[in-house]
Amino acid sequence: MATAGTFFGGRLTVETGDLTALEVDALVNAANPGLLGGGGVDGAIHRAGGPVILRECREIRRTRHPDGLPAGRAVTTGGGNLKARFVIHTVGPVWRGGSAGEDGVLADAYRSSIREAEAKGLSSLAFPAISTGVYGFPKDRAARIVAGLLKDYFLGGPKLSRIRMVFFSAADAEIFLKEAAPLLTGSP
Ligand code: ADP
Repeated sequence: MATAGTFFGGRLTVETGDLTALEVDALVNAANPGLLGGGGVDGAIHRAGGPVILRECREIRRTRHPDGLPAGRAVTTGGGNLKARFVIHTVGPVWRGGSAGEDGVLADAYRSSIREAEAKGLSSLAFPAISTGVYGFPKDRAARIVAGLLKDYFLGGPKLSRIRMVFFSAADAEIFLKEAAPLLTGSP
């Protein structure tokens, strides 16, 4: 894991590496509404975490979300074999050109995940770049949205002591930093 950027006195870090290897209270999964695994970071989390996570996801589908988890919402399972204690599964928006409310749903996915972590009394949380893979959300636009909400969060008396933004490639971390750093370091 390599750190590419640090903000808010080290409480927010931008890193490059494999999310599934992190030792954090919870990592966030960019899931799909079915909650039964998939490609990308979702597949990697289920592979590394083992069948316990899938079992819990099935139970959540059966009891709370028979029609699937709506985009913008989040639910929590244990971390199985991961070093992370919990996995917070959220569903980002599928990119449809930008006029279908995608920005708001992306922000909701991040905010719901933070709320789940806070409700469990956790202190550290790691995010992947939700929706910017198969779901096709433009990476630069996502960066500006995420930076805006994280700034509000850290200036507003955060309960979490640490949030880590984790990018699979150094190029993606760079795009994020180019867009996000001016917003994160500028005045409110
Ligand atoms: P979505 O369907 O929400 O777009 P994807 O999993 O396809 O989610 O992609 C989201 C982001 O996660 C992409 O930028 C992808 O490069 C990244 N990613 C994939 N695997 C990992 C991993 N193991 N650790 C961190 N990021 C990952």
